[in-house]
Amino acid sequence: MSKAILYDATLCINCKQCEAACAEKNHLGYSDPVAAEDRQSEHKFTVVLNKNEKYMRRLCMNCGDPACASVCPVAALKKTAEGPVTYDAGRCMGCRYCMVACPFNVPKYEWSKLAPRVRKCDMCSDRVLAGEPTACAGICPTGATKFGDRDELITEAQKRLHDNPTNYVNHIYGLNEVGGTSVLLLSSVGFDEFGYRPDLTRDPLPLFTYRVLSRIPDFIPLGGMVLGGVWWITHRREEVAAAEEPAKQNVFYPRSDDRGPK
Ligand code: SF4
Ligand code: SF4
Ligand code: SF4
Repeated sequence: MSKAILYDATLCINCKQCEAACAEKNHLGYSDPVAAEDRQSEHKFTVVLNKNEKYMRRLCMNCGDPACASVCPVAALKKTAEGPVTYDAGRCMGCRYCMVACPFNVPKYEWSKLAPRVRKCDMCSDRVLAGEPTACAGICPTGATKFGDRDELITEAQKRLHDNPTNYVNHIYGLNEVGGTSVLLLSSVGFDEFGYRPDLTRDPLPLFTYRVLSRIPDFIPLGGMVLGGVWWITHRREEVAAAEEPAKQNVFYPRSDDRGPK
């Protein structure tokens, strides 16, 4: 059965233990300055936002039919039956189409690294495949972040809305957005307050991708040539990096736009 995360902002106390556990799980540094950062980044896969003492988590939604995976020419991103959307850095050729396609502005790029990767939450895929909860859910002291079967979490979320209607906006974010996601959200204030788009279709976004691609017959061969070039450049960069290892400390690739603050 497909798994999911249910985050209930009304139970969150902004302790940020989920951020710290995520960083440890993914071998990312975590410190007071990182804790103070209020955006997802290549070194911070989840963030707890605070707006007038109302809290909200941001992380990869691990979409049921992910737009990021649908545009990836080399299948580096994949949706698993268990829920996580995984990323294989060994396949990635650095085209960053996924960053453009994601409706939640999630994937980030390691612009400053010689062999950059796309970075995002993968719903702790190794833990989930081993039958364990995600690190963020496992550490959460209040149950604000809960891990379980998606169907059961939806039933629980619906019960919370039914039993305490004044505590919540009447919406389970992620239940239907872009066809449904493996992260479900409850809140007492509008999700758009925290940058979640209210205008998303209920259809999986890859449907639109396929429709667009089917109308552009020359896209695939032309895109293949362009992407082949990108792949060569990316791997050439890795070869050069290996050959010039002693000079590594002095090389810096300028940061580029990664589309928005969250
Ligand atoms: S939120 Fe974005 S990066 Fe995450 S699975 Fe969905 S489309 Fe992909
Ligand atoms: S599911 Fe894992 S990778 Fe995703 S935010 Fe939670 S701890 Fe981080
Ligand atoms: S660990 Fe739980 S209570 Fe603490 S900030 Fe994260 S979701 Fe909120």
